[in-house]
Amino acid sequence: MSMAFISHPACRLHQMGEGHPEQPARVGAIADRLHARGLYDFLLHHEAPRATVEQLARVHPREHIELLAMKSPAEGLAYLDPDTAMCPETLEAALRAAGANVLATDLVLSGQVQRAFCNVRPPGHHAEHDTAMGFCFFNNVAVAAAHALESHGLQRVAILDFDVHLGNGTEDIFKRDERVLLCSTFQYPLYPDLNPPSIPGRIVNCPLPSGSGSEAFRAAVANEWLPALEQFAPQLVLISAGFDAHAADPLADLRLTVADYAWVTDVACRVADRHAGGRVVSTLEGGYDLTALATSAAAHIERLLGHGA
Ligand SMILES: [Zn+2]
Repeated sequence: MSMAFISHPACRLHQMGEGHPEQPARVGAIADRLHARGLYDFLLHHEAPRATVEQLARVHPREHIELLAMKSPAEGLAYLDPDTAMCPETLEAALRAAGANVLATDLVLSGQVQRAFCNVRPPGHHAEHDTAMGFCFFNNVAVAAAHALESHGLQRVAILDFDVHLGNGTEDIFKRDERVLLCSTFQYPLYPDLNPPSIPGRIVNCPLPSGSGSEAFRAAVANEWLPALEQFAPQLVLISAGFDAHAADPLADLRLTVADYAWVTDVACRVADRHAGGRVVSTLEGGYDLTALATSAAAHIERLLGHGA
């Protein structure tokens, strides 16, 4: 399996203050684990370009992009919400994180690779149409989906979001778009404290109560996601890959294991193999215990590569 791995040094420079869980070490921890597992050299490495205003403006109003540029501080931190701050390097990292998703989509849809993983931060799935929130500035996976639809002419794109938090931003952006199927598992109640209803054929939301583990997660994916995905028959599978539903994560209370991330990745790949020519683009969202993040992401990437099955 040919697979791209896309990142940028700016993703290690964005920081939101000492002790913030969405920390620069996250992307390095994943890369280090891939080296240790002997997977790094199987990946085709690319440096992320900046997303252009045109690419961002498919999912965010130009005012949102201009506001972030205006708020970008020359020094220190500028807070957009109590958890979400910009340092001088944040805008560059956010542009590269979104741009990584554009490049990943181009590489996969042009047939240069079959799979791609964007090892980027800041994450994106809480960023709504016109609101940065929850550690997110631009909605990276939404930028990828819009690029696939608008630039490559796809008709059906599925977004699978197994981050422990609801991807409210992705839902806000695509809730009226019949070309996108959004499948989500998330702990509820938990930030952002929303539990919107599913919409047949468009949104499959699977809230899981605190303490839920492998069984409940796998049942939701098998019984709720899969029938919707089979009916929708996506031409491209995108993954909002958050690893904060792992039992060790400090921000949430689900009980997933590394094996669950390998399993759900296999499920995503099988859907892609059946309907989408095997094409999968995955982008990093949450995951705040560095060891759990690194081992879970490595298992995810190993399965995307088609290794270890
Ligand atoms: Zn999360």
